[in-house]
Amino acid sequence: MKIAVVGLGAIGAQVLWQLSRRAGVEAHGFESGYIGHPRAGAGGEGRLFRNLELTTGGYLPIIKRSDEIWRELEGLGRQRLRRMGGVLLIGGESNVQVRHAISAARGWDVEHEVLDTAALRRRFPQFSVTNDDIGVWDVGGGVISPELSIAVAVEQAGANGALVNASTQVSGVEETANGVRLVLASGERREFDRVVVACGGWTTKLVPELKNWIVARRLTSAWYAGRDDDGLRELPPFMRAAPGYCYGIPNEDQRLVKLGLGFNDHLPVGDPDRAPRALTHADAQAEVERFSWILRDLLPGLRPNPVRIETFIESYTRTMHEFMGVPEGRTNTVVLGGFSGHGFKMAPALGELGAQLVLTGETAIDLGFLADAQPAFSITDVETGETTHNAVVASHDSPIP
Ligand SMILES: Cc1cc2nc3c(=O)[nH]c(=O)nc-3n(C[C@H](O)[C@H](O)[C@H](O)COP(=O)(O)OP(=O)(O)OC[C@H]3O[C@@H](n4cnc5c(N)ncnc54)[C@H](O)[C@@H]3O)c2cc1C
Repeated sequence: MKIAVVGLGAIGAQVLWQLSRRAGVEAHGFESGYIGHPRAGAGGEGRLFRNLELTTGGYLPIIKRSDEIWRELEGLGRQRLRRMGGVLLIGGESNVQVRHAISAARGWDVEHEVLDTAALRRRFPQFSVTNDDIGVWDVGGGVISPELSIAVAVEQAGANGALVNASTQVSGVEETANGVRLVLASGERREFDRVVVACGGWTTKLVPELKNWIVARRLTSAWYAGRDDDGLRELPPFMRAAPGYCYGIPNEDQRLVKLGLGFNDHLPVGDPDRAPRALTHADAQAEVERFSWILRDLLPGLRPNPVRIETFIESYTRTMHEFMGVPEGRTNTVVLGGFSGHGFKMAPALGELGAQLVLTGETAIDLGFLADAQPAFSITDVETGETTHNAVVASHDSPIP
């Protein structure tokens, strides 16, 4: 069977690698940039690998399977793709997401430690936490190298015989009587039995019928130094539950920490190719101000201005649960999109499930929970990507439904 994977980012790279391991499959990958480029959802050098999901236990088997495949890929590529050492979740003791994370960890036997306020302050004095905050230490958490992971997965796919077309943009995905035709930006047409679209924030450019389900956002990451050389010493990778959602990933040398915010602080993007990516001074200043509450309320040991600031593109579904399947009206086109800010840690298992889906229409892990999820926001303008407020990853006060 001849299968094309369009988009070799976090997910597509893994799908291509998995397909390349199947007998009888001729796997072709198409990527508009170079392999492992940092301009879509995968740049910025660090992604959290967390075992503790904040909203549903459905992801736990996917995360567990990913953990296994991450190790396998690291072995095959002879390259470390994650630095492990734990991830801290911070939030109010009665916070819905914190409670959920703890009960999911207990239910799924995920190694963790619950730190009461005093223990949290003692162990991680870098954080200024409230008297209500507790910590949950995710022992098996860590930090993924996103760009390298993609490069290694695609390299492995190539070594298994997959045909990799880098710097090759696809501009159309058309169902035909016998399969699917890809129209390349060059005008060339290529025929396949089946196609996987894994284009992240660009998904609805190729599959516009999903515009009322998937939106794109421009995310800003900002890297801060400590006020002195010890300011970031022993600072762990962390996430703070909503409301007050944010996360931070220290660089390996502990001299900078990359901070990120939640959905409502990202720029709605109708067409990712037109989204401003080089920030003007005024834009950069406005972005920096969005982060200021983290420095004031949570990490007072940071210098007030970031030393680096960059933007990325991610896709979100209305439920914050990814779309994985064949859209209505299509037969041989599987779409994997809307990974809603949490796709990287699960990319290896999602790649395996995506390969199963395109080959058999079924998956070894039950994905029914994806379709059962309740909407977290509404899309108010499909052309601009404007939405209503999303409380699930809100960085400011608003109740979680
Ligand atoms: C700033 C930021 C922080 C994040 N933090 C975390 C985290 O800590 N932990 C975590 O698990 N997840 C995190 N995520 C989410 C995770 O990175 C994404 O869910 C994941 O990258 C989505 O993968 P994807 O394959 O759907 O999209 P992408 O990784 O964006 O890949 C899509 C690829 O498709 C290519 N493409 C697009 N259009 C075309 C076309 N027409 N033809 C050919 N190729 C095309 C793009 O160039 C790109 O390479 C974060 C995301 C961002 C942006």
